[in-house]
Amino acid sequence: MQWIDIGANLTHESFDADRDAVIERARRQHVVQMIVTGDSIAGSGAAIELARQYPGALFATAGVHPHHAAQLTAAGLPVLRELLRQPQVVAAGECGLDYYRELSPRESQLRALEWQLQLAAESGKPVFLHQRDAHVDFIAVLREHRPALVGGVAHCFTAAAGELEDYLGLELSIGITGWLCDERRGAHLVELVPRIPADRLLLETDSPYLLPRDLKPKPRSRRNEPMYLPHVAAAVAAARGESLEQCAAYTSANARALFALCATQS
Ligand SMILES: [Zn+2]
Repeated sequence: MQWIDIGANLTHESFDADRDAVIERARRQHVVQMIVTGDSIAGSGAAIELARQYPGALFATAGVHPHHAAQLTAAGLPVLRELLRQPQVVAAGECGLDYYRELSPRESQLRALEWQLQLAAESGKPVFLHQRDAHVDFIAVLREHRPALVGGVAHCFTAAAGELEDYLGLELSIGITGWLCDERRGAHLVELVPRIPADRLLLETDSPYLLPRDLKPKPRSRRNEPMYLPHVAAAVAAARGESLEQCAAYTSANARALFALCATQS
């Protein structure tokens, strides 16, 4: 079995002391490829740098998270365009709208999203999308840009059935995290995950965030790691009534197809 973690924030400072060991541990659990999320121009540069050290195993996204949207100016666009050209970069993002925390003003978020969808279309790479409490604005912008995009993923999907239908209607893929393993916040996802077509489902840890709540024993640090991806997968497979082998086969094939990941040896 081979697993692919399509969203790991491996440049996060919580990995500074043992990043290589974290990657090694993941690979021992057959998490053979990981996509390192870029969340700002500097963060995307760091993600690319890390991916360069693990050719064929680590890849990167390049983009500006809605939290940092106010930092993205027109002057930053040529820089972002250049980052998107790097061979390690397999998606534009993470980009989107977050009205839940609203760390950047909504106008900045909308402008940064529009810009990045244009850059994604230009690059021919899929988009890595983040949305929280902003569905109406988000889906309106996406509908407008979708024809020019090659594809994309609604990463860390935690919302309700209507939002899922909207994403699927736009032929987007859906990223499922350990949110599903939370019996309080994730109960509705147990009902929704079986409704995702097998060719649209992707797995991610969103490490170091979203440590699966039912993980036993839990690390004292409460830090999530890509090595826990098979735990998330087990919850997905159980919800869908599939074997782990089936789940590994189609989710890995989906990730390789959407992000055009080159095959790996291990
Ligand atoms: Zn996100």
